Amino acid sequence: MADQFDNNKDNDQEQKYEKFCFLCRRPESQAGKMIDLPNHIHICADCMQKSFDTMNTQMNNGNYSDLFNMPNVSMIDLSSFQNPGNQAKKIKKKSETPKPVIDLKDIPAPHKIKATLDEYVIGQEYAKKVMSVGVYNHYKRVATDTMDDIEIEKSNMLMIGPTGCGKTYLVKMLARLLQVPLAIADATSLTEAGYIGDDIESVVSKLLAAADNDVEKAEQGIIFIDEIDKIAKKKNTNQRDVSGEAVQQGLLKLLEGSEVEVPVGATSKNAMVPMVTVNTRNILFICGGAFEGLDSVIKKRTESSSLGFGGKVKSKEDDNNVMKRVVPHDLVKFGIVPELVGRLPVITVLDELDEDALCRILTEPKNSLIKQYTKLFKLDNIDFEITEDAKREIAKRTIEEKTGARGLRAIVEKILTKLMFEAPSDDEIVGIKITAECVRGEAEPEITRAVSSTRKK
Ligand code: ADP
Repeated sequence: MADQFDNNKDNDQEQKYEKFCFLCRRPESQAGKMIDLPNHIHICADCMQKSFDTMNTQMNNGNYSDLFNMPNVSMIDLSSFQNPGNQAKKIKKKSETPKPVIDLKDIPAPHKIKATLDEYVIGQEYAKKVMSVGVYNHYKRVATDTMDDIEIEKSNMLMIGPTGCGKTYLVKMLARLLQVPLAIADATSLTEAGYIGDDIESVVSKLLAAADNDVEKAEQGIIFIDEIDKIAKKKNTNQRDVSGEAVQQGLLKLLEGSEVEVPVGATSKNAMVPMVTVNTRNILFICGGAFEGLDSVIKKRTESSSLGFGGKVKSKEDDNNVMKRVVPHDLVKFGIVPELVGRLPVITVLDELDEDALCRILTEPKNSLIKQYTKLFKLDNIDFEITEDAKREIAKRTIEEKTGARGLRAIVEKILTKLMFEAPSDDEIVGIKITAECVRGEAEPEITRAVSSTRKK
């Protein structure tokens, strides 16, 4: 009994005080994780390594007699250090400053979150509103830790929208604005643990890496899982569904909040990598996907419910907004397990970007493509210009290619690569103008050259 008491006391002391290296006397905060020896003796990894190195060189030289006269290592008789005294003197920093990572006062109000998103993300008004409220509530819940009787439930989100409409972009902007770590994972690369592919917990390791291995920070971060629709339950299959339903079940555990053991500084678990435990309770999970084919599931449901008397004849306008009428049950029909649907209470449908929106994306956002190129050319004292028609033509081409806003850059880059290569070395070029013909590939960009003087660098 007395022994146990002593042990507890020792443990308390260990937690309160910082460990010191027995050889070089550096504290753990400086020297890194200590290797614990009996009798409260701790050695830092550097000193341990140095000792091994010295021993090895001596032995390689066949110099066994010198082994006991080594400069850095004296063969310590551990028993003579039964009581190392007050080896640990410095109180751990962590316990001194238990500062919350997220402060309730720091969380911007939903309208402020949306206003900042507006500066970067064009259109998607509804999604921006829903997400602003979602993250605001989430972090309010995290900051207050909702200890009272009404526990606020986590508002994980699901974003539905075609490729290139800004799902990943919105999440990136949100994480940047809130200054929380973000991990982006692709659901298609995940498989049940033990199969080829990343196991599900690897998404938490990614988040930990994004948080510079700070567990507390990671526990309040955001994980974005893209292409969630691609892991829908496969129909009529007798094989084990290791990358579909099994992944959904695995994700469910993370979304619900569980303690996950993840390797520090690596994505795979092996004996050499230290592990830490991350609790996913306060991590905000956002899932995204195009959900192709979901519209027919919705249509089927709405058509059958509007049959018979009172059934409405649907207009074409309705058809375009079919996705917006999604209800959780449609997702279950699509192949997402009901438990997972239940864990994603906030569902937003993003609009497909039309020609106008794409034109605006080219010029309006704070870091728009045109602004970026203008700046790049300006650095070489070249004026860059693009006509309205050219912008429309670029937008039309991205719509044809079905690449969404993602395709804009590729098109502009293709037109400008040659010029970006030549212009810096051609001192006479002072202006470049992109026209609709250039975009269609019928003409070269219009170049203005300085008449007499060369371009000033
Ligand atoms: P996805 O919906 O497939 O995740 P992304 O978010 O990756 O698409 O979008 C690709 C790129 O297109 C982004 O990096 C961003 O530059 C641009 N983009 C997409 N949607 C928008 C938008 N609504 N406003 C501004 N830029 C956008």
